[in-house]
Amino acid sequence: MKKLMALLLAVAMVASLTACGSKAEDASAGAANGTITFATNAEFPPFEFIASNGVLGEFDGIDMAMAKMIAEDNGMEAKMENMEFDSLLIALQNGQIDAVIAGMTVTDERKEAVDFSTPYYTATQVMIVKEDSDIAKATDMEGKKIAVVQGYTGEVCVNDLGYSYEAFKKGTECIMELVNDKCDVVVLDSATASKYVADNEGLKIVEDTEAFGSEEYAIAVAKGNTELLDKINASIEKLLADGTVSELAVKYSEEATE
Ligand code: GLN
Repeated sequence: MKKLMALLLAVAMVASLTACGSKAEDASAGAANGTITFATNAEFPPFEFIASNGVLGEFDGIDMAMAKMIAEDNGMEAKMENMEFDSLLIALQNGQIDAVIAGMTVTDERKEAVDFSTPYYTATQVMIVKEDSDIAKATDMEGKKIAVVQGYTGEVCVNDLGYSYEAFKKGTECIMELVNDKCDVVVLDSATASKYVADNEGLKIVEDTEAFGSEEYAIAVAKGNTELLDKINASIEKLLADGTVSELAVKYSEEATE
């Protein structure tokens, strides 16, 4: 019986290895064939959200416009897949997709798993509270009910500060907790926080630049995929230099998201 189990396990392992291998080949062939398959988590306005008439099918936002421009700049087409934020880097490592564009902060931990492009946006974590809240700095969160999104850098920050928190799947879930007085504060990326505060009455943003440092968003590719990374970097540098990224940031920050 033990032998049979071991054999089955070995077969399963080989099968899974082959599956990954062939997928990886497909993805790189895809990029070479004129399609860059990006993935995002379309729950992060103004960078990515679902819209009836998005710049890339049902997807709209700063990142989605950038993905389209980067692909076109290289004579290719952008395809977008939507998945959970936690699954993005795994999909990249499995060769399921070519690149991740998801308002993703470059961190040392993530750098161990994937390669990052030239950064295109600087953000920071902020606290979202009710307008009458007495929270004025990060240390005021002590003993309060804190909500974060699972796997976001906001979770890492609150964890590093040593406070206990509740992690939710989506930013909108955190905001609903706050609106319904089920939590006292949400820690989230600045631009997305501004979006939610503009869309929901009675909320405000509290910044603490000492507690929360600046973060840089970049596109991720599989480790060692320099061919694609070079293309992406050349395009990002153009889009930064000619002001396109700033224009997109203004456009999507002002526009109401659906
Ligand atoms: N910038 C945050 C992070 O990288 C959140 C990104 C996102 O939700 N798309 O964790």
